Amino acid sequence: MISAEQIGDNLKDIEERITAACNRCGRSRRDVTLIAVSKLNPADAVAAAAAAGQYVFGENRVQELVSKQEEIVGICEKKLEWHLIGHLQTNKVKDVVGKVELIHSVDSFRLAQAIDKESLKKGMITDILLEINISSEETKFGLTPENTEETVRLISGLTNVRIKGLMTVAPYTENPESNRIYFKKLKDLSVDISSKNIDNISMGILSMGMTGDFEVAIEEGATHVRVGTGIFGARDYTKRFIYG
Ligand SMILES: *Cc1c(COP(=O)(O)O)cnc(C)c1O
Repeated sequence: MISAEQIGDNLKDIEERITAACNRCGRSRRDVTLIAVSKLNPADAVAAAAAAGQYVFGENRVQELVSKQEEIVGICEKKLEWHLIGHLQTNKVKDVVGKVELIHSVDSFRLAQAIDKESLKKGMITDILLEINISSEETKFGLTPENTEETVRLISGLTNVRIKGLMTVAPYTENPESNRIYFKKLKDLSVDISSKNIDNISMGILSMGMTGDFEVAIEEGATHVRVGTGIFGARDYTKRFIYG
């Protein structure tokens, strides 16, 4: 793990870059939430980021998220907010409902139905985003832009899930400008769906932008950026075995 001091320095750097991006496009810093993506980093790294003032964290796997939440209780007194940003399987829904602020990765009506059912059982309403495969990469999860409206309409009939917006994972690139078009497309899709005035849904959240391209995403309207490497350093994928 990188040092707590380095995590603090990295956060400060990311914070400055977010502020600069907001300033460039006339947005308020308050309109952008930084999600620190802690996957494959230990609870100690989360605690170090929390000590430096960060309180929103993202994980891409349910099991890792839940065990880190349990682990962090003993080493950090701050109240943290967790987001599930990775692909969710129906059989893991029961383990995550009630444990996160927002599920970013809903990509089917069937999955939304499972979240609805579990939320009803637990007497709560779960906020979700729809994941959109905006770049049409074959390897990516997500709804196609063409299927999005229909899925939004179906989900809007469910009582215990609430769509709050859209999310996308743009292609990996060394050149952030090359993803601008995808961020624009996601924003356009969200404006389009918003204009249909569908009951029970909101398009207020746009979750897009990662370490390599979050500034461009903010310029194109991101409200939530998901930054891992830029805060915690390169991930060690051999650590996967710790969390399964
Ligand atoms: C890992 C991950 C991120 C963070 O990626 P970095 O490039 O390390 O910032 C963001 N979003 C999702 C869905 C991820 O799985």
